[in-house]
Amino acid sequence: MTDTMIIDGKAFAERLRAEVARKVVKIKAEKNITPGLAVVLVGSDPASEVYVRNKAKQTKEAGMNSFECTLSESTTEAELLIKVQELNRDPLVHGILVQLPLPKHINEDTIINAIDPNKDVDGFHVINAGRLATGQDSFVPCTPLGCIMMLKDTLGTRLSGMNAVVIGRSNIVGKPMAALLLKESCTVTIAHSRTKDLPALLKTADIVVAAVGKPNMVKGEWLKQGAVVIDVGINRITLPDGKTKLVGDVDTASCMGIASAITPVPGGVGPMTIACLLENTCKSAGLQT
Ligand code: NAD
Repeated sequence: MTDTMIIDGKAFAERLRAEVARKVVKIKAEKNITPGLAVVLVGSDPASEVYVRNKAKQTKEAGMNSFECTLSESTTEAELLIKVQELNRDPLVHGILVQLPLPKHINEDTIINAIDPNKDVDGFHVINAGRLATGQDSFVPCTPLGCIMMLKDTLGTRLSGMNAVVIGRSNIVGKPMAALLLKESCTVTIAHSRTKDLPALLKTADIVVAAVGKPNMVKGEWLKQGAVVIDVGINRITLPDGKTKLVGDVDTASCMGIASAITPVPGGVGPMTIACLLENTCKSAGLQT
């Protein structure tokens, strides 16, 4: 039996946001700049609307300017490109985030790669992805950035040399997560939908990062005793009484007594993601001359 520590992402994010607010005060005093984040939402996906509202609220609470731009579902790719270019030129905007997913008629890669890489606080632009992959300073995607911060905080110097398995190979989470773990000198394996015998692979993992999108998929019995588990998944499930509930990709209850530490859902990775977005926007403003 191992005592399983719950990694409190909510409290960690609160500390990070307070730190960002202090940096904002410093940037205002030293550079006479108020960091500004522009969030572009196309269409009216309810989940995206909630994310955008939360981002705007927390941006303002950190003392930064928030520019919200809501465009209709019928916005064309050309119109969205014009908006992005406008924000690229705007000196009050230091960070640009285009909320994904975009409507099907718009090519996401085209839009992301039109964002000025120096304002790409989501870290999705191919230049930032390339910089991260080659170990250069870059904007790091917010979700994996939050995950690596929590891992460093939990494991400290023990992180170096550990076996890490990242489940999921998306550009948003899985791939940048693997790059960050590699940078910390972990031995990294990326598992995905075609991986054979995931349970056997996880038995070798000191660190498991699950970013799949399948409710409660990873079972405690698959883990190595003492593994540290980061659950990125956000899945809404319907309970027998008809109520809904958010769960992760990891069956948390079955990991208790096996994992040495685990992030809860909600209250783990989620709150860290927005805090890291504020951190990246602050970093961008701080780089302005
Ligand atoms: P995605 O759909 O782009 O990628 C999912 C990955 O899972 C794919 O690479 C696929 O190969 C892999 N996969 C699918 N089935 C598998 C299986 N049976 N075994 C192993 N791998 C399998 O998803 P994403 O954008 O990376 O997001 C993953 C999850 O993380 C989702 O639940 C999403 O909601 C959540 N998420 C949370 C945050 C946050 O802030 N907490 C941010 C981004 C994504």
